[in-house]
Amino acid sequence: MNYCCNSCRKTFPEDQTTLTSEGLVCLSCANRIRNKIEAGFELEERRTALAKTEAENDRRAALRAVKAISIPDPDILASEVVERLGGVEGLASLYVAQVMEAAQRNPGSRTVLQGLKWVTEMVEKIAERQIKRSRLSGMSDEDLEALVAEMMAKQESQLEQTQAEPKQLIQERPAGDR
Ligand SMILES: [Zn+2]
Repeated sequence: MNYCCNSCRKTFPEDQTTLTSEGLVCLSCANRIRNKIEAGFELEERRTALAKTEAENDRRAALRAVKAISIPDPDILASEVVERLGGVEGLASLYVAQVMEAAQRNPGSRTVLQGLKWVTEMVEKIAERQIKRSRLSGMSDEDLEALVAEMMAKQESQLEQTQAEPKQLIQERPAGDR
């Protein structure tokens, strides 16, 4: 009995046919189908490899771009900005002018109050720093050395504890210690 090839439509004896994904076909069509499937796999593999290469290239390009951007030193940036705003005096005048104008246009507004709050907070910080400084300057050399040694010992023991049992340290630390 002869069978019709599902692909080329010619008839073949049973022993010259085989079952494939495209149904019963002759041996030469089966060969062709197998080659086509293999070529498809190969193409897919090549596509995957190409996509990987492209992703890697993108990553490298991004890294190069990051390296190329020079990150400015904050000190230099701050001094440049302050200089362009007229130095410390210019900056102070600008600040006062803005707050005064806002105060005249809209007294008691959030902008005005925040502007004044910033000044009072700054004054407070400066006062605190001056008190600390005068306390330190009033200390003898021995007392200063003892203070530094104490601070370093504290830091070291904290570091050791953190390395030994980090979880326990967090649990045991009293709330007021932070
Ligand atoms: Zn065929």
